[in-house]
Amino acid sequence: MADHAPRPPAQPETGAPLTEADDAAALEAGRVLFAGECRFAAAAGDRTRIPPGRVPEVAFAGRSNVGKSSLLNALTGRHALARVSVTPGRTRELVFFDLAGRLTLVDMPGYGYAKAPQKLAREWQGLMLAYLRGRPQLRRVLLLLDARLAPKPVDEAVMAILDTAAVTFQLVLTKTDALAGTALATRIEALARLARTHTAAYPEVLATSSRTGAGIAALRATLATLAE
Ligand code: GDP
Repeated sequence: MADHAPRPPAQPETGAPLTEADDAAALEAGRVLFAGECRFAAAAGDRTRIPPGRVPEVAFAGRSNVGKSSLLNALTGRHALARVSVTPGRTRELVFFDLAGRLTLVDMPGYGYAKAPQKLAREWQGLMLAYLRGRPQLRRVLLLLDARLAPKPVDEAVMAILDTAAVTFQLVLTKTDALAGTALATRIEALARLARTHTAAYPEVLATSSRTGAGIAALRATLATLAE
């Protein structure tokens, strides 16, 4: 279930909440975790192929083109990692990466340019829902949102699915380098408000840019708190 912590104070420059991720020890823990070996572990196109495993897991979800592959590569510092997931035929699969035997990163299929939330719901009925519901080691879903765009109905439909499945999710902005001035703080504040309307949403919104590296160390630190 979502753990609704009290809202932490905000950073003056970005409006982003101060968290344990700002703490030097947490940042170091994140650095150490992601300095470990990251390797492709499995791909599952149907529920029978979802690998067992007890290591804590974090899944990455978002619309196609949100910057998910770039973020996975920026996090792990490896250029070829997420390419595995975009080879033809792999686009409807869950792809599992083992990080130092301490955390499994799961690349969920991008949910397309689907305009109709109903279409998304159909796509997520089978494999995605089976995965989300039957995965006690799944600590959190990172729901990626393009910082330049307001969330689409399809994003909100995914949030509703995660609420129903009682899977904690955290909103992570991508491409924040594309926003100037106060636009980023305004976007973060709007999304924090949106998060408060979802029972499974983690209250803190993370802001990242794979291009500049902004927020990557903080995201690593957050993930280290979830790792074994
Ligand atoms: P995916 O489909 O979600 O895996 O998205 P990709 O990682 O392939 O990125 C989609 C597009 O967004 C590409 O054109 C990237 O160059 C661009 N992109 C990804 N990350 C960033 C970022 O941090 N900043 C900017 N400005 N563009 C980005």
